[in-house]
Parts: sequence; C-alpha cells; structure tokens
Amino acid sequence: MTQNALSVEFARRLSETPKSAEERAAILENPGFGDYFTDHTVVVDWKVDPEGKGGWHNARVEPYGPIAMDPAAAVLHYGQEIFEGLKAYRHADGTVWTFRPEANAHRFNKSAQRLALPELPTEVFIESLRQIVSADKDWVPNGDGEALYLRPFMIATEAFLGVRPAREVSYRVIASPAGNYFGGELKPVSIWLSEHYARAGHGGTGEAKCGGNYAASLAAQLEAEANGCKQVLFLDPTNDFAVDELGGMNIFFVFNGDTLVTPALNGNILHGVTRDSVLQLASDRGLTVEERKITIDEWRQAVADGTLTEVFACGTAAVITPIGELKTADGSLVTPELKGESVAMSIREQLLGIQTGTVEDLHGWLTQLA
Ligand SMILES: *Cc1c(COP(=O)(O)O)cnc(C)c1O
Repeated sequence: MTQNALSVEFARRLSETPKSAEERAAILENPGFGDYFTDHTVVVDWKVDPEGKGGWHNARVEPYGPIAMDPAAAVLHYGQEIFEGLKAYRHADGTVWTFRPEANAHRFNKSAQRLALPELPTEVFIESLRQIVSADKDWVPNGDGEALYLRPFMIATEAFLGVRPAREVSYRVIASPAGNYFGGELKPVSIWLSEHYARAGHGGTGEAKCGGNYAASLAAQLEAEANGCKQVLFLDPTNDFAVDELGGMNIFFVFNGDTLVTPALNGNILHGVTRDSVLQLASDRGLTVEERKITIDEWRQAVADGTLTEVFACGTAAVITPIGELKTADGSLVTPELKGESVAMSIREQLLGIQTGTVEDLHGWLTQLA
C-alpha cells in the first residue's frame, strides 16, 4: 500500500476574503453554468519517492485562487490531464448530497490509467468532495434544477520537457454553482453533425475523461455554432458511420415510445454515469433497453418510417435534454412532433427527483456530503 499511502487528514486554511453574502446571493440568483467559483479549493499532491513509488500527500483545503506552476509543467505542453464532473444537491432539509460518486471515482481512475497518471483512492476522492462542500456549503443552490457542480481534476505539474509520465502531479477540486446548462427554459436543442472532425479513434482516449478530447472537439464546436447548433455529434467513420456521442454528452434514441437505444460502449464513448442511470431507470419501468451499434442511416430511416419517437442527450451538466434536430451539411433530420408522453422528460423528472431527494432512492445512489 505504499503506492497510495495517505492520511486522509485534510489541513484547512479558510479564505480570509470570501465573497460577501450579498455577492453570493446575487450570483446564486442566476448562476448560469461554469461562470462563478466558490471560495475554496481542495488540493492533494503526488510525487514519486526515491524508490520510484508514488505517494499522495499534503491534502488540504485552501482559498480559491491562481495556481503557481513552473512554465515547463508537463500539463502545459503535453496535456497530461483528466477530470470529473458531478453535482452536489441541496435537499429540502438543508442536507447536501451527491449522486453515485463511487462511479465517478472509478471512472477517474480508469482515465488516470489511460493518461499514465496515478490512481487516487476512492475514499480520498469522496472525502475531497465532502471537504469542499463543507467549506462552501452556502454555495449549494436550492432552486429548481440547480446544484453545485463539482470539478475534480488531476494535472501533471512536473517541470520537464522530455516525454514521459510526470513524476509530480496535483489533484484538485473546484466548485461552481450551476443552473440550466443550456440557459433559460428546457427546450429541444439542435445539434450539428461533424463530418470532418472526430473526437476519438480506436485505441485513442475517447473513453477517458481528459481535456485533450475536449480540445479536439472545439473546431467542430465552432462549426456547430456557425450553423446555429449548441452541440456536436460525432460518428465513427471506420464503423459504418455509427453514432458515438456528443462532444460532452451521451445520446439516446426512443423507438415507438417503448424502446431505448444507446450506442454500446465501444472504447470511443465516455461511460456516462447519467447514461448508466437512464438505462437502469428505463429497465425498471419495463421499457426495452438496447446498448448496440446505431448508424446514421438507421436514424434517417427511423425518421422516415415514423418509428423514431424521441432523441435526447444526457450528462451530469445538462441532465437530460431533448434533441429536436440533427443538422448536417446536406439537410437535417428532424425529430417528429411527439404524440403522447415524453419518455425523456419523464425519466428526467425521476432522475432529478432522486438527486434532489423528492423521489425515493431505490438503488442507493445518493451519498451525503454535508
Ligand atoms: C462527462 C461526459 C459525458 C457524461 O458523463 P456523465 O457521467 O453522465 O456526466 C459524456 N460524454 C463525454 C465526452 C463526457 O466527457
């Protein structure tokens, strides 16, 4: 256990200049997404010891602020970085909970393996969330659909320009109050089909949650915005143009109102916690769920013959968001007008209800943070 030896004692140095209650209230009035940050951050450092083994040390809560880093730090040159995203929800009794954090901890370690970064023990990951939420509890919003977005990440801080895994690394958590991801009310979004850019390839980093995947998706995102869309859909051109996922969200299709189809985890696709939870809730209700290959041709065909009833995107940030249209360079695929109840919206309500404590948590998905 020398590898991950750590005393889970977090030193606490609280901010001497936290935002005032008025300033915080003004921010929480309209938090947006990712625009504002709380007063504290959590840090744990990792360094290879003289025997060549790594060790986590110096766990601490400190005031939020800039990171002093050597300009030669590996993350700045080679992008050795991974991250996670999960939310803290305030329940009616004032307690604060998060959703399936072990799943995020597990995925974080899978990402760490792929990016040759050290793994972080699950209990340290979860304790780090408790630490930031207890320091910044007043920042957890209580409005409808609002939460405190938690962003754990790990960066290679060693100053070294040779190419090899860094021997000095830093794990950090920041937090940001979050409202509706797409802004305003929930209405179907248009997405853009990326035909020139891929976000992942076989053997690549598609199923790791790393900054590099996002950097690679930005040119396609610009193309999407130029075409009036908010998100990009990526296909796998080496596999009959099978649908993979969006830049930062997984995708689902509903056929005939009773069958949910989502692309199988094929190495290119992020293992979304929301994706997994939607599959579970859908099968709990007796819907048919299929994780399989679905091509753009099948999508087109299902629009044409009327069997496709809904399309939606899912992820922690945006929960579940209906997709109204897929725009492509030569025409668009419009999701038909819905007749009857929306499966997407009904599962969204259930999921949000579990997260915010108004619907029973039958799967033991919640963990109390404060
Ligand atoms: C984070 C992420 C998702 C969604 O995962 P959740 O665990 O549901 O938040 C989907 N796709 C990509 C590329 C992601 O980075």
